[in-house]
Amino acid sequence: MTKADIIDGKAFAQDLRARVAEVAADFEAMAGRKAGLAVVLVGEDPASQVYVRNKGKQTVACGMESFEHKLPADTNEADLLALVERLNADPAVDGILVQLPLPSHMNEQKVIATIDPDKDVDGFHVVNVGRLATGLPGFVPCTPLGCVMLLKDKLGSLSGLDAVVIGRSNIVGKPMAQLLIAESCTVTVAHSRTKDLPAVVRRADIVVAAVGRPEMVKGDWLKPGATVIDVGINRVPAAEEGKTKLVGDVDFASAAEVAGAITPVPGGVGPMTIAVLLRNTVVAAHRNAGIALEE
Ligand code: NDP
Repeated sequence: MTKADIIDGKAFAQDLRARVAEVAADFEAMAGRKAGLAVVLVGEDPASQVYVRNKGKQTVACGMESFEHKLPADTNEADLLALVERLNADPAVDGILVQLPLPSHMNEQKVIATIDPDKDVDGFHVVNVGRLATGLPGFVPCTPLGCVMLLKDKLGSLSGLDAVVIGRSNIVGKPMAQLLIAESCTVTVAHSRTKDLPAVVRRADIVVAAVGRPEMVKGDWLKPGATVIDVGINRVPAAEEGKTKLVGDVDFASAAEVAGAITPVPGGVGPMTIAVLLRNTVVAAHRNAGIALEE
């Protein structure tokens, strides 16, 4: 028997998609066109292919237009940049997402920098990073925004809480820390050089683990009652020979004995990412069309 409440990201994401679908329908009625998301995939990475397929399906299910651009792995960078420029100029496209990672002969930063910041629904463009850091409206990376939505849904106001974010990547850890600062948490960002990580984690009312190390955070690292958000997605061998399973960065079994609430893997943060992407796209559509939207 686990003691912690299980935070159901799958159900939350389903509700969010339903709300996005309503807003997308209103947008279509007002603008005379559907909101549109363009997704660009270069190469044949199997995981990326699955993500792109799911994004396309869910975009259409929410009543928005999905434009998929699949380019061969040996596409040259100039051709990709030219496609991004065309999408920037296309009035039917409100959001542009270039699926990462890109093949090694391409400069990811250069590609991201070419996306119009007002269509950058992934929130990776430096302009959006700067907007987030300075509290201006922009686009926030989908996974950390989804984590904050789950936290606020569970805890209400986060003001004054001690939060520890483990991981300082540009796509999860750093924007997560910025969002928690904006929610008036006291934020510590831990990483591979942090001294005595268990002691740092034990101070936290909120723990966000975005490390990429299977089941690293143990139950005895946690303050009793802490809220634990596990961003990690790690594929590891399962008990049954030849099979694999997904686990997070948190050792769920021991953590659920101590935490007040915890996201499972799968079914926690994972489903939020695409739902937030769709939310960002419908927000982009309103902004690009000059139609007010209460957020
Ligand atoms: P990165 O590899 O870019 O960053 C990992 C971070 O963890 C780094 O800052 C690194 O520190 C830190 N780290 C590594 N080892 C340790 C350690 N032993 N102790 C403390 N910190 C450590 O990963 P991402 O941020 O891209 O992803 C993190 C996890 O989240 C992955 O499992 C990924 O699959 C998952 N993910 C899930 C998503 C979802 O939709 N649910 C979306 C994106 C990611 P340093 O900077 O010092 O190297």
